[in-house]
Amino acid sequence: MRLRHKPWASEKISENPQYVVAQPEEKKGKWDKEFGNDNPIHIEVGTGKGQFVTEMARANPDVNYIGIELYESVIVTALDRLIEAELPNVKLLNVDARNLTDFFASGEVGRVYLNFSDPWPKNRHEKRRLTYENFLKLYEDILIKGGEIHFKTDNQGLFEYSLKSFSWYGLHLKFLSLDLHNSDFEGNIMTEYEEKFSAKGQRIYRVEAQYQN
Ligand code: SAM
Repeated sequence: MRLRHKPWASEKISENPQYVVAQPEEKKGKWDKEFGNDNPIHIEVGTGKGQFVTEMARANPDVNYIGIELYESVIVTALDRLIEAELPNVKLLNVDARNLTDFFASGEVGRVYLNFSDPWPKNRHEKRRLTYENFLKLYEDILIKGGEIHFKTDNQGLFEYSLKSFSWYGLHLKFLSLDLHNSDFEGNIMTEYEEKFSAKGQRIYRVEAQYQN
């Protein structure tokens, strides 16, 4: 993702803690209180500009969504979307997913979404891929038993790598699609990247990977 310098982003984020949660480590184990209900919590890691979490929250009012994004200059666009949408069941965290266990207690998360994650094609950057084994361990630590990762990408190399990584870790693979937009999958909500790449004619790959714990 190309990053634009937005000097005002930091101020805007700190002015809207009801959407971009300030000090999220203090919410660990207490997200039900933050949302005011005990509905399941689904997170998107690498949420980008927030279209997916916002539209998922609109379509599924009985699920709470949290979008996690590293860069202020990107998450500020997701924040604009949330301000506009005025939905009670979606929030954002401006944090590095490497620290997920600082923000969520064991079993606090019902599902992890990974959409169009950065491919990091060089071998020496493997550890940065959000489907690398260290991340799979973090997701396992915060997910409910038998929790799932739902993963979409246009990148064949990352998809193949991720299938191997999931399998090696012992995850059970379900509903694998090598061409999501020409499959019978219903209710797909598109991300910004998905719209961009599918408009260029690229195939979208999708899989659900379930922990066997
Ligand atoms: N999911 C969105 C979509 O499909 O349109 C955005 C995809 S974009 C290629 C990947 C995003 O993941 C970027 O905004 C990047 O900053 C974020 N990201 C990558 N590694 C991350 C990490 N360790 N923690 C939080 N966000 C991360």
